[in-house]
Amino acid sequence: MKKEEKMKKPIKLDANENPYSLPGNLREKIEKVAGQLPYNRYPDKRVYSLRQEISRYIDMPYRRIMVGNGSDELLLMLIMAFAGRGEKVVITRPSFTMYQFYAKAVGADLAAIDVKSDLSLDWQRFREEAAADNRGIIIFCSPNNPTGHVPRRDKLEQLIKTTDKIVVVDEAYYEFCGKTVIELTETYSNVVVTRTLSKAFGLAGLRVGYLIGNNDIIERLEEIRSPYNADSFSQECARLVLEQSSQFEKYWQKIIKERDTLFRSLNEMAGITPYPSEANFIMFNSIDPQVISEKAIYQQLKERDVLVRYLPQLPVTGDTLRVTAGKPEENKCFLKELKNVLKKV
Ligand code: PMP
Repeated sequence: MKKEEKMKKPIKLDANENPYSLPGNLREKIEKVAGQLPYNRYPDKRVYSLRQEISRYIDMPYRRIMVGNGSDELLLMLIMAFAGRGEKVVITRPSFTMYQFYAKAVGADLAAIDVKSDLSLDWQRFREEAAADNRGIIIFCSPNNPTGHVPRRDKLEQLIKTTDKIVVVDEAYYEFCGKTVIELTETYSNVVVTRTLSKAFGLAGLRVGYLIGNNDIIERLEEIRSPYNADSFSQECARLVLEQSSQFEKYWQKIIKERDTLFRSLNEMAGITPYPSEANFIMFNSIDPQVISEKAIYQQLKERDVLVRYLPQLPVTGDTLRVTAGKPEENKCFLKELKNVLKKV
């Protein structure tokens, strides 16, 4: 009880953030760097040191790496570069909502392919879109936000082989599942992988993402990248964080363990259906929305200072909720409050 009283309220389990702040020694290093940076000077527009450090972390040549103001910016740039007005952005539904937002912003057409009843991808529909005779871009999210599902690698590679379109694989949650297609960027010239430091490295507030693609893709993207899209402070913090990437592995293990505990607890809870996930979040439904709707659960949790994400009208699952795996005490509090909400009906 005491622990819960000390917890910061509201408990934020709605944005798939990392619940842990940076390890103490890193915080000290960052504070030291912050006091020494030449703020009157523009940042390094080649983002050289950070790209070198990313190159070490992912074991890919730095020339094939581009850094963005969050992976959000890179996704926008990819859509701007490879899908314009009247061209298609092909996505999964449900998936990360910004794909749709950016497609609309550039005036591209959207083909949103609904997941199948087991939340896996409708590869037949993807193949049809991939074969369509126009330019454009196909975006996969692996693991998918919000379903937590990882697209099948063999199917993904088959699709990549048979299309000229750019295929983006958004691996924002890679560190929580350990599955990547990054090496396909060496074999196929139409593949791009995007990643972020916002989730596994807990740097959501700094806005640092990166992508890996072949040289032609990087060159094309350089034509639209604003030269100072990565500020000096973020470049340096991200470099320091990646330099110590192994320090973060214990946090990922904790988060994965908590996600699995959360799943088991939700699965045992009368009135709730959770879906297995390979990311740091879990999607779930009310078993009987006539008894209590997802919206009511969301609102009542909010009144109890627990924030989860309400996702209205998804294909297959209808109104749905998504909870991020937080610290053990935060998850316990979420489960306790959810039980209380369900008990009242
Ligand atoms: N991709 C996915 C699947 C996400 O869920 C998010 C953030 N919620 C992003 C990309 C964007 O991350 P950022 O801009 O912080 O790098």
